[in-house]
Amino acid sequence: MKAAAKSRTPLTVFDQLESEVRSYCRHFPVVFTKASGHTLWDRQGKAYLDFFAGAGALNYGHNPPGIKEKLIEYLRQDGITHSLDMATDAKETLLTRFRDVILAPRGLDYKVMFPGPTGTNAVESALKLARKVTGRTSVWSFTNGFHGMTIGSLSVTGNRRKRNGAGMPLSHAVSMPYDGYMGPDTDTARYLERLLEDEGSGVSLPAAMILETVQGEGGLHAASESWLRRIEALCRTHNILLIVDDVQAGCGRTGPFFSFETAGIRPDIVCLSKSIGGYGLPLALTLFKPELDIWGPGEHNGTFRGNNLGFVAAAEALRYWEDDGLRRVVEAKAAAVRAFLEHLVGAYPFLQGEVRGKGLMQGIAVKADGLAERICSRAFARGLIMETSGPDSEVVKVMPPLTIGEKELEQGLSILEESVKDCR
Ligand SMILES: *Cc1c(COP(=O)(O)O)cnc(C)c1O
Repeated sequence: MKAAAKSRTPLTVFDQLESEVRSYCRHFPVVFTKASGHTLWDRQGKAYLDFFAGAGALNYGHNPPGIKEKLIEYLRQDGITHSLDMATDAKETLLTRFRDVILAPRGLDYKVMFPGPTGTNAVESALKLARKVTGRTSVWSFTNGFHGMTIGSLSVTGNRRKRNGAGMPLSHAVSMPYDGYMGPDTDTARYLERLLEDEGSGVSLPAAMILETVQGEGGLHAASESWLRRIEALCRTHNILLIVDDVQAGCGRTGPFFSFETAGIRPDIVCLSKSIGGYGLPLALTLFKPELDIWGPGEHNGTFRGNNLGFVAAAEALRYWEDDGLRRVVEAKAAAVRAFLEHLVGAYPFLQGEVRGKGLMQGIAVKADGLAERICSRAFARGLIMETSGPDSEVVKVMPPLTIGEKELEQGLSILEESVKDCR
């Protein structure tokens, strides 16, 4: 025992006490102590550039100073922290700001629901509401979609390993081919259309279709705008509700505040979480058209729907959306990332790479087994935090805070290139 104690790695208490279920810490095996903007520091004082951004929960970087000040001020004056769904100052400010800064300028008329603080809470509430409104039970989801780890969300998630974790049949969901799933020559929207119009298709009308416009966890497949419009039209024709899960792609990750804005579609229900909390604080919103608001009081409930620190941070973060400055910056950086990734694919044929994604959620799908993970692990050794995406972890994913400086973005990309070279 003594000898074992002596040889303890800095991670020992995590290894010994924390469940085997832990995952990210296995890829980044250091103890982090501090973070600011696009930088994290470990206990040894080593700095890491963050190209992971809390899986999309840190679009405005770590500890953004303006939001931090608001939070400190709020705590200092004994502002309400926990309030279930009681009315508070902080919630009033957030609702007002969300209406004035996000909804009204986009001509969007949505009711706002606080479903509980995580993305999967937003998805569960969306599925429940769609079934309640339509009286139908099944939901169509898409190949490689990811919607969360609770049973309802898992039932509409593609990944086999994650689904198996349920330990029970996942029912009342049907997986349909996403845009491009069958290759460039097969029109998957046409396939759905046929199933819907054919009385002999054997597939019953669903309550809803749920999709991500860019599949954050499932391999960074991005749907084309025309495909999204056709899916919306199919939903309209057959009275099916369209749910866009914007938990990861929303809050500016692809450029505009909502990822579906460029396609010109109007989902019936929208799920937001991750960066809506502004500061990495837990918060989720489910948005839906007012006529869908047939909930009875307390019909979907939850203790942590009143995370007022999340409201304060979220309201302050909406400053970024008072004009189109951040959107334009994201689009410019996205173009630079695209060009760089195309360069890597061209310069390093061994990758057999394919550039995927949109905005500041792009990456390279590589061919060889385990190669993407090796590249990310080399990047970590070189001081860059990156994750993989896709069912076989085959995509190297570039997802920095939206606010990262151009210089630091370039610096991270060149570390990525060095890491690719390491794996030749
Ligand atoms: C992360 C994510 C979720 C789940 O959010 P949690 O907060 O982890 O429950 C759902 N949908 C998408 C698209 C996500 O990226």
